[in-house]
Amino acid sequence: MSGFRTLDSAELKGKRVLVRVDVNVPMENGRVTDTTRLERILPTLNEISQKGGKVIMLAHFGRPKGAPNPDFSLKPVAEALAGLIGKPVGFAEDCIGEKAAAAVAKMADGDMLLLENTRFHKGEEKNDPALVAQMAELGDVYVNDAFSSAHRAHASTEGLAHKMPAFCGRAMQAELEALSKALENPARPLAAVVGGAKVSTKLELLGNLTKKVDFLIIGGGMANTFLAAQGKKVGKSLCEYEMLGTAREIMKNATVNKCQIVLPTDAVVATEFKAHAPSHVVSVDHVGEGEMILDAGPRSVTEVENVLGAIKTLVWNGPFGAFELEPFDAATNAVARTAARLTGEGKLLSVAGGGDTVAALNHAGVGEKFTYVSTAGGAFLEWLEGKVLPGVEALRA
Ligand code: AMP
Repeated sequence: MSGFRTLDSAELKGKRVLVRVDVNVPMENGRVTDTTRLERILPTLNEISQKGGKVIMLAHFGRPKGAPNPDFSLKPVAEALAGLIGKPVGFAEDCIGEKAAAAVAKMADGDMLLLENTRFHKGEEKNDPALVAQMAELGDVYVNDAFSSAHRAHASTEGLAHKMPAFCGRAMQAELEALSKALENPARPLAAVVGGAKVSTKLELLGNLTKKVDFLIIGGGMANTFLAAQGKKVGKSLCEYEMLGTAREIMKNATVNKCQIVLPTDAVVATEFKAHAPSHVVSVDHVGEGEMILDAGPRSVTEVENVLGAIKTLVWNGPFGAFELEPFDAATNAVARTAARLTGEGKLLSVAGGGDTVAALNHAGVGEKFTYVSTAGGAFLEWLEGKVLPGVEALRA
């Protein structure tokens, strides 16, 4: 991968390798209940171990607010990792100081050790140089495999990268490669689907995308605000009337940047926000006073599918409708399945992520069929907003 240092160029044999990982997994009664995030980091851990490095993992878990708290201990994660890897993973009760140093000193080449929650120290979120220096004493090489934390300049995500040779782990590398193909060097035409509830939470994202994409397909509740900005009546629909000026501004900027905005032309409307509420399809010019738009209609779906058929790259964030409530998941399901089919046929590179998007694609049964689905949440959204991610910048060659 150009532009970043990867494990291909790292000298690992006999080295103490500090690996920042994302192990923010769901836990119940001190046991890990979903190992998806752990599975993503296995290639990096195994590769470093097989190359003779000592794998010393650093990670945060939850929000313990800078003090030790057994509810946020990473100990169960060490056990779950050992089960997945099929060999012991040691655990140290602190990520700095004597306990950590003693555990590291005992390691043989290829061994694995997880250090306790970095957020048990106030300095982690402050990127405190004193904490960074203490962490740095434990390692010779730094590897970051936690893209999901890379939007934060914390001690273990950014500070450490400047203290020793720093490299991307394989999960980080895969994420950066996918994101770069999707928005930095995309095959064109390029389209973005932006759906979800509100314009106000996605302003920066919309602003950045109008500068970069050829088609901006707007869905979900936020489309109502754009329709209202065009003078249409949206009845009882979710609509941010205070954002109409902003929506017009976004549409104007899109025109200047030769980005075509695609809005729904028909909608599925109901009088109640609940599953199986009686509903019907109307043109967006004829939404009744007491009705609310809960999904895009079939004509809109066909129009979006026509765009998908004409493009080479797709970036997706947010659903087309209230997809948690049947049958208002229909448009999201249909468009997601078409994107998955085109991806499978080799006609489309599709990258999706952020918030509810992963759930929406899984609900449509196509979570595995996109080119890349990012589970990084906040970091993925900040990347869509065009922001610099400090943890990523620190890994540039
Ligand atoms: P976001 O977190 O901004 O991506 O928004 C996702 C949420 O938007 C989901 O919970 C959807 O149910 C909701 N949503 C999508 N379309 C609509 C709509 N037309 N009316 C109300 N809520 C919607």
